[in-house]
Amino acid sequence: MSLKVIQEMPSPIEITKLMPLSKKGKRIKAQRDQVIKNIFQGKDSRFILIIGPCSADNETAVVDYLIRLRKIQKKVEDKIFIIPRIYTNKPRTTGEGYKGMAHQPDVSKKANMVEGIKAIRHLHIRAIEETGFSCADEMLYPDNYAYLEDVLSYVAIGARSVENQQHRLTTSGLEIPAGMKNPTSGDISVMLNSIRAAQVGHSFIYRGMEVKTEGNPFAHAIVRGSVNQYGRNFPNYHYEDIKYLVKMYKERDLENPSIIIDLNHANSNKHFDEQPRIAYEVVRNCHYDEDFKKYVKGLMIESYIEEGNQSIDGGVYGKSITDSCLGWNASEALIQEIARKL
Ligand code: PEP
Ligand code: MN
Repeated sequence: MSLKVIQEMPSPIEITKLMPLSKKGKRIKAQRDQVIKNIFQGKDSRFILIIGPCSADNETAVVDYLIRLRKIQKKVEDKIFIIPRIYTNKPRTTGEGYKGMAHQPDVSKKANMVEGIKAIRHLHIRAIEETGFSCADEMLYPDNYAYLEDVLSYVAIGARSVENQQHRLTTSGLEIPAGMKNPTSGDISVMLNSIRAAQVGHSFIYRGMEVKTEGNPFAHAIVRGSVNQYGRNFPNYHYEDIKYLVKMYKERDLENPSIIIDLNHANSNKHFDEQPRIAYEVVRNCHYDEDFKKYVKGLMIESYIEEGNQSIDGGVYGKSITDSCLGWNASEALIQEIARKL
């Protein structure tokens, strides 16, 4: 092999000992985990918003954003349950470019994985202890989940990972809800197969150990639109798309059948400012059709402090360096309007 070892990684046990979550933090996460499970089981009718920047690139800006979200969460708490997106691992279309805080904790410096793992754990712990939010992250590298296991309340398996065996098997051992995205091709059966794979138990190798899982009954669907062979984006949040997915769900024996609708990515044709229009269409459909309301448990929204995006060295505080996001004012208005319309 031509790969060179740069440094050994500390184990998840070492990192967790070095950077423990406080008792208060553990309590907050446990309470929130229960509420989220209740929502996916249909015992709590609140609508989930998984909302935040495409990538959590800067601790100060992300905590600033979460403090703003906390104020809004209070105002809409009878209708909406917010799970902030703190996405610290970024899959890239060509594999090049910014790979997230886990790789590059300081965007002006070179990648450093040990510092990266510490930085993402630090950020997730600050989110819980300073803002009361246990958050969502993408499980891009299943092995790295072990470093965040006690701090996350939700994971997504991305469009480029959902067909991967290790992702599916690892998800089957998680104790929190995991959203399996439709692949970029848009094939709904791939997504449903991955939900099935995650809901049953497996034996496999994880972090150098032979392990056994029981299955994750909270694995569910996230629809994010698709891209065809000519690079054209196609949405899959419309009434007919969701009714079809509900029909497919009904033909399968899956637990807690649930759908989260991602408003950005191929659903918005990468036009971040279409997200409010899509949100309102989804909420209208929830009022129109009982199954729609029952299955659609919430939305995923890309939002940050400044609207749009910039290059990695752009330097604008609170502006995305990956996908374009709604700015703060539009995000605040959107959350309140969704609550009003629900
Ligand atoms: C994301 O949520 O930012 C993301 C990369 O999503 P997807 O896997 O759907 O492209
Ligand atoms: Mn994104």
